[in-house]
Order: sequence, then structure tokens, then C-alpha cells
Amino acid sequence: MRRVYCDANATTPLAAEVMEAMRPYWTEQFGNASSIHLAGQQARKAVDGARETLARFFHCREAEVVFNSGGTEGDNTAIFGLLRQGDHLITTSIEHSAVLRAAERVAERGVERGVEVTLVAPRANGLIDPEEIRRAIKPETRLGDSRRTLVSVMLANNETGVLEPVEEIGKIAEKAAAYFHIDAVQGAGKVNFDVRRFGCHLCSISAHKMHGPKGVGAMYVRRGTPLEPLVVGGSHERRQRAGTENVPGIVGLGKAVELAMARVEDGTNERVALLRDRLEAGIKRIAGTKVNGAGAPRVANTTNIRFEQVEGEALVIALDLKGVAVSGGSACHSGSTEPSHVLMAMGLDKNAARASLRFSLLRTATEEDVDYVLRVVPEAVDRVRALAPEVAGTRG
Ligand code: PLP
Repeated sequence: MRRVYCDANATTPLAAEVMEAMRPYWTEQFGNASSIHLAGQQARKAVDGARETLARFFHCREAEVVFNSGGTEGDNTAIFGLLRQGDHLITTSIEHSAVLRAAERVAERGVERGVEVTLVAPRANGLIDPEEIRRAIKPETRLGDSRRTLVSVMLANNETGVLEPVEEIGKIAEKAAAYFHIDAVQGAGKVNFDVRRFGCHLCSISAHKMHGPKGVGAMYVRRGTPLEPLVVGGSHERRQRAGTENVPGIVGLGKAVELAMARVEDGTNERVALLRDRLEAGIKRIAGTKVNGAGAPRVANTTNIRFEQVEGEALVIALDLKGVAVSGGSACHSGSTEPSHVLMAMGLDKNAARASLRFSLLRTATEEDVDYVLRVVPEAVDRVRALAPEVAGTRG
């Protein structure tokens, strides 16, 4: 049976070039980058090389790149590391749980002395209105030591692919002297990337979403940003993130980023967008389907589709049995029957959210892959609808 993996937003396979780049650092060149002997020097050189690549990717200084364990750590560090009691966090109700759970934590520290959290809701198409961010910023904000405001908005939503207007939000944050963090885990490698243009102080990315290894990522930390480390210990990463460097992982991230930079320019994204549009157009021919986030700018590879009168989980399973891997909501929510908080924030009711599936294509997807998916989806939808005609998904 043909297998078509349409869940690239959950994770991607390691690119062969990434595997090759990492290989020596598991075996012959296994040194600790902090050691002064030759083995250590080799590891340090590899980490420095990756840092130089990341600096080119972010458009920042090498000293502004901090390697870490991925998107969750980056998002947590931005929130726990910058905010203190009495500060204000402005974020959105469509963020990844790595931001939303951290926001809940800082808000919990006590009603009087905790961090105030404002959640901005998106419009029905999934776009955050920058004006809503502007309105949420309180006048007493200062970049310095008085009450801090942190604005945290994602570059691209993991469930819908909607690209948020981070440049505009960055300008608003700058004018109001607020700090700005971007969770760029899903946008990195898919759009032109420049933290100077985005106007952010902090930006998190993760290797495994762009054909790099799992458990490694990086954060851009603008010089002078008063960020406390989340992990303390040795003086690694200029004391911003303790722990022996994951040298193979960092090398893999560097290679993945290098490949991603080339892709943004070589037409891969345009090709993937055409395939995504072909997939979307084909699925839309099935009665009772609707694209969530339609009309908003989106990353090339993602479409999120609601199938009326379908239980999303049943359709995920039916498609898996036919060799097609998709997901309902985000991978971190799999196993739970909770409907997507992103789709609900966009105004869908629980049943409509549960009836929605995310298709996210790999950069290596082909027309044949899409045609295969288009052959099996209508049949699977019919079967799921026939099995449980009473299930909802018809409202909202
Ligand atoms: N932020 C977004 C938008 C994501 O999609 C993800 C992963 O799904 C994360 C953060 C977490 O990244 P990681 O898996 O590297 O911890």
C-alpha cells in the first residue's frame, strides 16, 4: 500500500544531508565542546559553524543565538525568563500549548503579584488583528526595569498554517516599548526570515519541523534583552542555557537551516503551495467541506479542512488504514478528545472543531501523493459518515 505522510507540521523526517552532517559527531568526533583538547576543539568548531549559520538565518549576531532543546524550551524561556511579578504578558488564544501553558503558570503566581495575562482572540479566519495587540498594551510599559510587557505571537499557526502579521505587531511593540517574542517554529524555513524585519527581541525555532533532528532548537535573543536562563548550571551558551551542548543535534540543526534557507529561494515553497492548492481544491469537491483559515495568508504546506458530519478522529483512523497520515488538531493533543483550541478560538463550536483535519505536506510531496490522497479521502469520508450519521460537525 502506498503511504503518504501529510503531517509535516507534527514532525518531518531527517534529510539525508542532515544525517550525514551529524554522523561524525556521534562517533569519531564525540568531544565535549567545553574541553580544551583536540576532541573538544573539534566539537567547539562544529558548534561555532552551526551558530554562524543560525546567525545568517535569523539575520543577527552570532552572540545572539542560543541553542536549546527546541520550540517548547524557547517558548518557555521567553515567558519565564523575561517576566516577573507585576509584568504583563499579551499573547493570543491560538498559540501553541508551549506558550499557553507557560502563560497560565506565570498568571498563577498569585492574584496580586502574578503576571497579568491578556489573551487576544483571532478573527474568524485565524488572523490576529494588530490593533487588538495595540489596545491590550498598557501605557506604563517600559523596556527597562519598571513594569515590563511581553507580546508573544506565533509566526505561523501549526494547525491552520495562517501567517500572523508579526511585522506590524513588531512595530506596535517597538513604539510601545514592549518586548516581543515570536514562536517561529512553524514558519521557520517556510517564509523569508529576518528578525530585524520582524522587530522581535526573542524568537524560537525547532529543528524537527524542518527536516532536522528532534530535541534541538535555537532561540534568537536580541542583545541587551534581560532574559534570565531557564536552565542553570555550567556557563554554556554565554550563561544563557546551561548543559553540555548537544553537538550532533546542533550540527543537524545548522544543516537543516542551511537547506531551509536554500528552499525559500529555490521555488520549493511555490511548488508545495501548488500541491496544497490542488489537494484543497480536490477535497472541497466533497459535499459539506470547508477550509478553516481560508482567505488568510498561509504557509505553503498546510490546509485545515472541516468535514461536516464527520468525527475527525474516525477519519484520521480511516485514512491511516489507507496509508495517509493526517492529524486532527496538533500532535500534542492526540490521544485526547479535546477539540482544537485554535479552531474554537476562530469561532467553530466543539463539533465543528472535532470534524476538522489538518493536512500538512512535506517538501518532498509529489503530484502522485496528492492524487492518491484525493482518491482515498472521499471514500473514507463516505464510510465515516455512513458509520455514524448522527455525529455532529454540522453546526458552528
Ligand atoms: N510551537 C509551535 C507553533 C509548534 O508547532 C510546536 C510543535 O508542534 C512547538 C512550539 C514545540 O516545539 P518542539 O516540538 O520543538 O518542542
